[in-house]
Amino acid sequence: MALFSPFLLPKITAPLLALALLAGCQARREAVDLLVTNATVYTVDSTFSKAEAFAVKGGKFVAVGSASDLKARYAAAKEVDAKGQFIYPGFYDAHCHFYHYAMGLAEADLVGTKSWAQVIQKLQENRRKYPKARWLIGRGWDQNDWPTKQFPTKDTLDLLFPDMPVYIARVDGHAGIVNQKLLDLAGITARTPISGGVIGRDAQGRLTGLLVDNAQSLLSNVSPSTTAAEDTPLLLQAQQNCLAVGLTSLAEAGLQRTDIAVLDSLQKQGQLHLRINAMVSASPANVAYYLKKGPVQTDQLTIASFKVYADGALGSRGACLVKPYADKPKETGFLTSTEKQLRALAKQIAASKFQMNTHAIGDSANRIILNIYGEALKGQKDRRWRIEHAQVITPADMPKFGQFGIVPSVQPTHATSDMYWAGERLGAQRVKTAYAYAELLKQYGQLALGSDFPVEDINPLFGFHSAVARQDAKNFPKGGFQMENAISRPDALRGMTTWAAHAGFEEKRKGQIKPGMLADFVVLDTDLLTAPNEKLRGAQVLQTWIGGQQVWEKK
Ligand SMILES: [Zn+2]
Repeated sequence: MALFSPFLLPKITAPLLALALLAGCQARREAVDLLVTNATVYTVDSTFSKAEAFAVKGGKFVAVGSASDLKARYAAAKEVDAKGQFIYPGFYDAHCHFYHYAMGLAEADLVGTKSWAQVIQKLQENRRKYPKARWLIGRGWDQNDWPTKQFPTKDTLDLLFPDMPVYIARVDGHAGIVNQKLLDLAGITARTPISGGVIGRDAQGRLTGLLVDNAQSLLSNVSPSTTAAEDTPLLLQAQQNCLAVGLTSLAEAGLQRTDIAVLDSLQKQGQLHLRINAMVSASPANVAYYLKKGPVQTDQLTIASFKVYADGALGSRGACLVKPYADKPKETGFLTSTEKQLRALAKQIAASKFQMNTHAIGDSANRIILNIYGEALKGQKDRRWRIEHAQVITPADMPKFGQFGIVPSVQPTHATSDMYWAGERLGAQRVKTAYAYAELLKQYGQLALGSDFPVEDINPLFGFHSAVARQDAKNFPKGGFQMENAISRPDALRGMTTWAAHAGFEEKRKGQIKPGMLADFVVLDTDLLTAPNEKLRGAQVLQTWIGGQQVWEKK
């Protein structure tokens, strides 16, 4: 049953009604496609104003104001009574992996597994469900959640799945366990050299199946490539999941040319409604191709940035730190490219119109990237180069975000997922300089908020809750984690709408409910500005609209 339905006039009578009304009033009313009334509309404009109604024409907002005023001025082909519910600009995830997420819908979901035995059980279930699959892939395990906190080894995988390649990624994607079949396919032996990563070996020097960071790229030549036809149903299923949580725009944090082509064609066929800011994976071939081609900026697709990796993740101790890990005093993590390579790439991109969006987690990686950015962008204003994650920042480096105009692109749920063990990795002092969103906001004046899904849940309201309450789904900890870095609710809403758009040079087109902007909006049953913290994650999206078209409704 629909919770609320559009104006109940059959379409055919609408023009007649408009005529009848016209006869009764002096002024001629302008025809519009849609009038939404009886709502609490958070416009997220520059004054964070509220309104009651708005009008849409040609896929864009044309007026925002009171219902009586708009009804007097406009004759709408369709009217929606929002029944007093709450409307926001469509949510924008500023950093996610939509394509991976979509492909992952056919993979074994290992998030939340409580033991290695449970991982094995889920893999067996997946095998039964997809007997034709050429590979067995799982994702999302986290040994920090298990009774034994050591990395698992491949022995059971070899026993149960001797003949098919098995790959199971850790929750952060920076570490994975593979079976012998896959090691053989990839030609990985105990003697394979590796830099910027780890190939796990036991005390006897035998392979354990663990591959960390660059070691995982040894698999890229053997990984199964799927066709657009195979990918499409999964992408469309993923889109439904996104629309159901109010997402209308996504920044894809690193795609190949072929993947971008699939998304582009689905958008052009009218099947993919989501607007995509596709960051291009910065392989030498991709960089050469897109620098020559130049940026793309349409209402549906933005291609104007390169996604670069500076280091790994904190959970697998791949994040590059200035001082050693508190829980592994001989390790400081590593850069996944050399400083020289990163500097050369920055110089190359700085001479173009593209943004450079670099994954940097550790304080050393962040310092190196900030300095490289500052040097490459010298004299250039408002290039909006981004640091993705900006997770651990030495206080002395903080002001560089403001000084060099670097956009912090952060994922608030990382703070509340990692808080259980981040202190062990970083130590009591240094953890205070991590997930410092309020401080980053102060430095740059804006924050782009994302989820990094499928690393975290796709629901942007989880991020909203984490950002403002600094608590996880269990409302833990009481009082919030490092609350000095919580941000206000209006700022969290800006971060997932207009500031996310700004981070892709799209703020003049979307992210606000304002005349001239693309009519992307969501209807919720909850006032995100006043609801108690513990109600935020459960807020329900009732309708999702993109370009003035309803693309999703809660049944
Ligand atoms: Zn990511």
